[in-house]
Formats: sequence, structure tokens, C-alpha cells
Amino acid sequence: MTYVLIVFIIFLVFYSNRYGWWKKSVSYSCPRILMYHQISHHIKGAKFNGLRVTPEMFEQQIAWLDEQGINFVTMKQLLAYGDEIPPKTVAITFDDGYEDNYTYALKILKKYNACATLYLVIDRHDNDWSIHKKEHHNSGELVKDKKLSDEQVKKLIDSGIIEIAAHTKTHANLSQLNKTEKTTEICGAREKLQQIFNIEITSFAYPFGIYDRDDLELVKNCGFHSAVTTHDGIDCNLLEPFELKRIKVSGKDNFYAFKLRVRTGKRGWRK
Ligand SMILES: [Zn+2]
Repeated sequence: MTYVLIVFIIFLVFYSNRYGWWKKSVSYSCPRILMYHQISHHIKGAKFNGLRVTPEMFEQQIAWLDEQGINFVTMKQLLAYGDEIPPKTVAITFDDGYEDNYTYALKILKKYNACATLYLVIDRHDNDWSIHKKEHHNSGELVKDKKLSDEQVKKLIDSGIIEIAAHTKTHANLSQLNKTEKTTEICGAREKLQQIFNIEITSFAYPFGIYDRDDLELVKNCGFHSAVTTHDGIDCNLLEPFELKRIKVSGKDNFYAFKLRVRTGKRGWRK
């Protein structure tokens, strides 16, 4: 009997650490910013399947959000509300610029009248940026996944439901750069995107979520109106929107974990 009780307590502690069923929901007056990378099938034995949300999972998630009466917005639209953000507002974001955002995500977003913001790397082809963070991440896995062509990006823009945003020129690790290099990566990326696609770029995402005070100032001074990080969570106040938290959507999560993340900002106790 004691044995069964001990096993049960261990299970409960483990489960409650992984799934924050016990946590209080963050009020739906606070907007959610969801962070996605790829909408694609998993690759057997691959290291980065967490970045790959399958099209089936993605549709299940968007359909569920739609059922909840979610007000889908782009980052520009979110910022335009000022301090009068309608309840149940969600901004879907994609980082980097994978081709599957066009081939799989777009039609699902359209089907549910949703929209999204795409933080696009300019030099995204043949660029293994995973090693910019950790040298040992040189598996070459992500470099093989196809990235969007400029033509596909134009089609995303023409759909009217995708905001294009900046994510530096090369997916740089900003902590390794000097001031001039940072300016090229941050301000240069904005100018270049505006020039290529003839649109105004006002939203930015820090690559790897790595940034310091100077980077934040630079982002502001280059003319961006907002910047998102990779810190897990939900911000209720968007008055200084240059360090916005996001809700990570992992391809390794189940649907319950997704709902917990939307409800509380994180899946479990700490992440
Ligand atoms: Zn990225």
C-alpha cells in the first residue's frame, strides 16, 4: 500500500512539473503571441522536431483557437490597438522563413480567417545559422529544410493575411557582433526588406532570443515598433513593446500542452 502511494506521489510530482494543470489562467484581456517555426512533418530521429509542428497539429490548434472566438491579429494590428486591446487577441508568428509556411500554413490560416506575422531572415538559403548559437549544432539539419523564395514571400504578402517582419540579415547571434555589424543586421535588414518587397517593416524578432540593452535601443532607433523575444509567457501591458514574451508552440507537445501554454504562457512549472 505504501509502495503504491509513493509511486503515485512520484508520478503526480513529475506530471505536475511537466503539465501546469494547477496554474491559474492568465486573463484573456492579455494578448497571446504564439511562436512557430515550421509547419511540416517530423523527420525520423531528427534533433529539431520541436520546431516542426505537423500540418494536422497546426490545423487542430487554429481550429480550437477559432472555436474560442479568438481575435487573430498581426503584430502591426496588435500594436495599433495601443492600450485598448480587445479580449482574446492572439498574434500567430513564424520565425525564419521556411517554405512550409507557404505550402502548409497559409491555407490553414485562410480556412479559419486567421492571420500571422513572419519574421523573415534575408540570407536564409544555404545558411546554417544553428551554429551561430552553438558550434556543436553543426548537424546541417535545418539548412536542408527549404526556405521561402522571394516569389513565395510576395504571394504571402498578396494574400493580405501575412505581415512580413525582420529577423536580421543572416540570423546573427547579436552577442557576437560589434556596433557596426549590429546596425547592418538590424537596421540593414529592415531597409533591405522594405526595398525588396516595397512594404513598411515595423516588427522585429531577436534571433535565438539573444539581445542586450543596446540591441533593444538599436531596434527602437531603426524605426521598428515592436520586438519579440523567446522568453516564454504572456505580456499584459504592451506600452514598451521591445521585449515581448511569446508562447512557444513545440512540435513535441501534445494538444493538451498547447492548450495549457495558451492558457498560462507555459506548459509546466518552469517552461
Ligand atoms: Zn530564428
